[in-house]
Amino acid sequence: MTPSFEKLQNELKQLPGLGRRSAERIALDLLVVKPDRLDNLVKSLQTAAEKVKQCEICGNLTEDDKCSICNDATRDKFTLCVVEEITDMFAIDRSEVYKGLYHILHGKLSPINGVGPDALNFNSLKSRIVSEDINEIILSLSNDIEGEATCHFIQENIIEDKSINVTRIGFGLPSGGDIVYADAVTLRSALESRKSYK
Ligand SMILES: [Zn+2]
Repeated sequence: MTPSFEKLQNELKQLPGLGRRSAERIALDLLVVKPDRLDNLVKSLQTAAEKVKQCEICGNLTEDDKCSICNDATRDKFTLCVVEEITDMFAIDRSEVYKGLYHILHGKLSPINGVGPDALNFNSLKSRIVSEDINEIILSLSNDIEGEATCHFIQENIIEDKSINVTRIGFGLPSGGDIVYADAVTLRSALESRKSYK
């Protein structure tokens, strides 16, 4: 173990899903297999860090001001699907049943983990509801206490226009289950069986 190796391992360990042992394995692999791969990895990281940013409308990733979904003229502009994470949006889009727009919160309310309303992408949701012609908002948040609390907060504090139809996706999804782990068929039925949220 060298100081630089330890530093690299510590950085890797903080990535989601990586514990100390996987961080160690990856660090070793990178340094032993070195030449091209390491070089390319460093370059891709640098380029991505410089170019990739959040879409100022929905919170998706983009290299321009607007992301490809917000820019897509063929999408239904009257329906907005609110999700916790970008990965949830990918999962729903892969199910091919939904053709509207998205809004990514980048998390859910969780007082126990110190996540309050200010930490989530609520401000731009509020202004979208005012400035866009949205007829329906589909709350596609996870089926647990925090997901439910977030839905409630949106309904009470974000959606001032009460003529908008607010729905919650149906749950064939397992209780506590994350959307990203659901298969396309489950997601399709969850979207199709969405219910009015009151
Ligand atoms: Zn966007």
